[in-house]
Parts: sequence; C-alpha cells; structure tokens
Amino acid sequence: MELFITRPLPDKVLAHARAHFNVTLREQTTPLKKGEMRAALVLYDVVIPTLGDLFSAEVFEGMADSRCRLLANFGVGYNHIDVGAARAAGISVTNTPGAVTEATADIALMLMLMSARRASEGERLVRAGKWTGWHPTQMLGLHLGGKTCGIVGMGRIGQAIARRAHFGLGMKVIYHSRSPKPLDFPAEQVADLESLCAASDCVVLAVPGGPETRHLIGPDALAAMRAHAHLINIARGDVVDEAALIAALELGQIGGAGLDVYEHEPTVPEVLRKMDNVTLLPHLGTAALDVREEMGMMAVENAVAYREGRELHNPV
Ligand code: NAP
Repeated sequence: MELFITRPLPDKVLAHARAHFNVTLREQTTPLKKGEMRAALVLYDVVIPTLGDLFSAEVFEGMADSRCRLLANFGVGYNHIDVGAARAAGISVTNTPGAVTEATADIALMLMLMSARRASEGERLVRAGKWTGWHPTQMLGLHLGGKTCGIVGMGRIGQAIARRAHFGLGMKVIYHSRSPKPLDFPAEQVADLESLCAASDCVVLAVPGGPETRHLIGPDALAAMRAHAHLINIARGDVVDEAALIAALELGQIGGAGLDVYEHEPTVPEVLRKMDNVTLLPHLGTAALDVREEMGMMAVENAVAYREGRELHNPV
C-alpha cells in the first residue's frame, strides 16, 4: 500500500512506516496546498497529514471513489480536517490522543508561570543589558499559589493542567466543560463561561478548535476577567478572538496573556509582539522528540490497522 506523509517526521516513525508501506515523504515543512491534497487523495491509500493541512469540504469534492480511505492525522487536534466531508467521501479520520497530553500540559503551566511572573519581560531586560540589579519592588508579578485556575475544556489536557495547578502550584481549580468530569482531585465545575472568567486569576484554554469553539473567548469573556488575571491559550488560535484580546490588553482589562497558538498562525500581530505583558511561544505544545515519536507511531499504527483490515485505534 502507498502511504503519503505530508511533513518530515522523526526517523523512528519513518522506519516504522517504511516497514509496512511504500512511503512517499514530502520534505517541505509547510502546509499542503489544495491541489496537493486532492492529488494525495487520488494517489495514495493512506495519508498522514498534520496541523495546517486544510482538508476542507472542497478538497473532498468528487473523492468518493478516490484511492485514499484513511487520513491518519498526526496530532490530537483535527479541526483542520472537515471530518463530516471526509466521512461523506468514505474516508476515515484518526488522531493521536493521549500521546500529547502531559507535554502540552507542561507548556500550559510554563506559560502560566511565565505570564504571571513576567519571565519573558525579565529575560528581555537582562538580554538588553538594562537590568540595574535586584530591589524589593522590582518587576513584581502575580504569585499563583493559593490563587484560582479556571480551565476551559476539562478533557485529557485540561485535567493534566488541573493536576499540575492543584498539586504543583497549590491553586484552587475551577472548570467549564460541556459535561461534568469524574475527577480524583478537587475541582468545581462552573456552568457559565463568564462566571468562570470572573472568578479566575488565570484562565487556561484547553478545548478543541473548530466552528463550535471559534471565538469562545471574545469581548464578553475578556471583560468578565479580572484586571490582574492572565489568559493562557494552548488550545487553538481561533478559540480566542485575537482582535478582542488585543483590545482587552490595550485597555488593561486583563493582566497579561500567554499564547502558544494564534488565530492566523504563524502570523502574530505586531502589536502583540510589542506588548511586554504577553508571552509568545511558537506552538511548542508537543515539541519534544519522544512525544513526536509517540504521536507518529500512533498515526502509523492506525494506518497499519487499516492495511490489515482491523478496527482503527483512534477514529474521530
Ligand atoms: P479532549 O480530551 O477531547 O478534551 C477537550 C475538552 O474540551 C473536553 O472536556 C470537552 O468537553 C471540552 N469542550 C469541547 N467543546 C467545548 C465547549 N464548546 N465548551 C466547553 N468545553 C468544551 O482533548 P485534549 O486531548 O485535551 O486536547 C484538547 C485540544 O488541545 C486539542 O483538540 C488540540 O486542539 C489542543 N492541543 C494543542 C496542542 C499545542 O501544541 N498547543 C497540543 C495538543 C493539543 P466534553 O468532554 O464534555 O465533550
């Protein structure tokens, strides 16, 4: 069977894929263009796409008889794939849940601490040679111990962040999710998003992207947040109305923001880049070799299950 991989992946993953398939590896690190996606559906039995490969409904038009029957996505987030349109064309989609959870929660915690404790600003000060020395009122930030962490989306990653916030930082955890969660640590569900924003010192986003959560955090949620509170986004860029976030930061409605993802990724508005109280990471959530290997192995295992006519491990 022919397998198309749309980006370079770790060697271990490629070796595993080559043991089971004739692999065509695309060497570029940029997203596929529409024509490339349509060609891939025609030419290959399985495609391993990833973030940025925008498999919209248009891409699947007329593809009901195409060769490709599986998109084994590399990543847990699959909002770049119109799963309904894929299904209508008879193409299954899988993802890589679990492999990403702990590493992404680590990045969320890092952003919480960096934003609240002004780490980026401090680092810039030192690098610029402008630090004049310690003094008792220098660069005072927000101490997170004993404060409230409000998690939006209490799934796998949300819960991993909650554990770190509760057991690691001694924070009170509250959350907003579609359904109540059986949890082995104290956390209170808040039905209304704005109430959660109003009660939190740190609001952390861990919902999936896509039409349902687009601009979940807009002017109303931002206005509900406290003036000292920080917004952390490790979910997807379009969960936040970026223009509204910029306005809230400019007005001092919130204390700061820590972002791993952006609405028009990889474009990051210059105004955000110039704000001292904003911490900006280049989508580092799962960026560790062993994590990327595990994600890749899961994606290949889904492809192998398809090849062998077995049930897919992680259908979405
Ligand atoms: P998950 O286990 O499916 O958790 C998602 C949670 O969001 C679920 O608890 C779900 O509630 C909740 N949710 C969905 N829609 C909601 C809404 N409209 N309002 C409130 N809550 C809502 O997924 P996960 O593995 O934790 O991953 C979450 C997302 O993180 C991924 O989809 C991906 O986009 C993002 N991510 C980012 C990075 C990165 O590099 N920055 C890395 C990995 C993942 P129910 O359980 O009630 O349905």
